Amino acid sequence: MIFSDEGLSAHQMALCESIRALCARFPGRYWRELDEREAYPEEFLAALTESGYMAALIPEQYGGMGLAVSDAALILEEIARSGANASSCHAQMYTMGTVLRHGSDAQKQAYLPAIAEGRLRLLSMAVTEPDAGSETTRISTRAVREGDRYVVNGRKVFISRVAQSDLLLLLVRTTPYDECRKKTEGLSILLVDLREAKGHGLEFRRIPLMFNHHTNEVVLENLEVPVENRIGPEGQGLRCIFSTLNAERILLSSQCIGDGRYFIEQAARYAGQRVVFGRPIGMNQGIQFPLARAYAALEGARLMRDRAAELFDRGGTPGREANLAKLLSSEAAWQAANACLDTFGGYGFAREYDVERKFREARLKLVTPVSNNLVLSFLGEQVLGLPRSF
Ligand SMILES: Cc1cc2nc3c(=O)[nH]c(=O)nc-3n(C[C@H](O)[C@H](O)[C@H](O)COP(=O)(O)OP(=O)(O)OC[C@H]3O[C@@H](n4cnc5c(N)ncnc54)[C@H](O)[C@@H]3O)c2cc1C
Repeated sequence: MIFSDEGLSAHQMALCESIRALCARFPGRYWRELDEREAYPEEFLAALTESGYMAALIPEQYGGMGLAVSDAALILEEIARSGANASSCHAQMYTMGTVLRHGSDAQKQAYLPAIAEGRLRLLSMAVTEPDAGSETTRISTRAVREGDRYVVNGRKVFISRVAQSDLLLLLVRTTPYDECRKKTEGLSILLVDLREAKGHGLEFRRIPLMFNHHTNEVVLENLEVPVENRIGPEGQGLRCIFSTLNAERILLSSQCIGDGRYFIEQAARYAGQRVVFGRPIGMNQGIQFPLARAYAALEGARLMRDRAAELFDRGGTPGREANLAKLLSSEAAWQAANACLDTFGGYGFAREYDVERKFREARLKLVTPVSNNLVLSFLGEQVLGLPRSF
């Protein structure tokens, strides 16, 4: 076996087995066909919801599985490793942290049991704007309080799964940038009920991309959101979102590791079978070494992911480890993607082999949800103590 389950607890091994069995029902041709139609994997989501995994991080008291981030990491890793496009389902785990950490008891009671049962979907989070991507503090979507509601106006871009979600976590500016003491203040999070908002203050338009991903431009025009739907204190929205970013980095890193494992496993199998010049191409070190290098990078990245997840689950704030894991795993997955494509030769570009689809999907993670440049900047300035560049 190329990748061993050694080191996992019995509970984690069972979890991985269960995810593998579920994913086996959705083979490459399922994802390929969706990719061609640019359609959302509704059946896969339904299966994940039915089995409880979409509620992996929701505490048991609200009807969820109450799993740790290190368990959720394995779920996303196995999904990506199976050849699936894990971006379709990751968001509910990514965004859940903000609600869990900063939602009031009443908000948790109102939403979490319904999400756990699969009656509500929290698949979408809106931060990015046309003039504020990496520089989040520059967002200008404005929420003005009028009595018991906020009236929201602005524009968001690249907001994924708005069409598929019932709920949206929306980052807005409640105090204008110039009136804030610190640039990280004056922002707030609103939980928008999309079932009411669509067509009533919220319009969206899909942005076609290089792979099957459902992301949108969103226009907010006098959207009314009840004040009771604000998550966390007014003006502290960025702090609330930032406090959950370590979990997001760990989960994203896990998707990358799953992608990387997919590429290595596919390439190793193919390299052992494909005969050129009278011998399997895997006998050539020109084929072996890039795969071995990518494998080494991937296994190292996984150790860092494990370390970050362990620290997180112990209640720590492993910013250094989570960022290192994101950087190392996205780069290792991309290294594996290229080595795999080279191994498959011309067939790597043929749709029926799925490698080209996963290749397109893997590239995204070098850039989002945070670009590796910003991760490097965090490491340079926050860890190495170098002067700030911005
Ligand atoms: C498929 C997809 C799905 C997405 N889904 C969502 C979503 O659901 N919700 C959401 O809110 N957002 C989403 N995003 C947006 C994503 O988070 C942003 O694209 C990302 O944060 C980068 O912002 P930007 O594209 O505006 O790049 P910019 O901020 O314009 O940056 C452009 C480039 O310049 C680099 N750069 C900028 N400043 C510096 C610096 N000081 N030093 C070094 N390099 C720098 C960046 O790293 C980047 O490489 C999605 C994007 C994509 C492509």
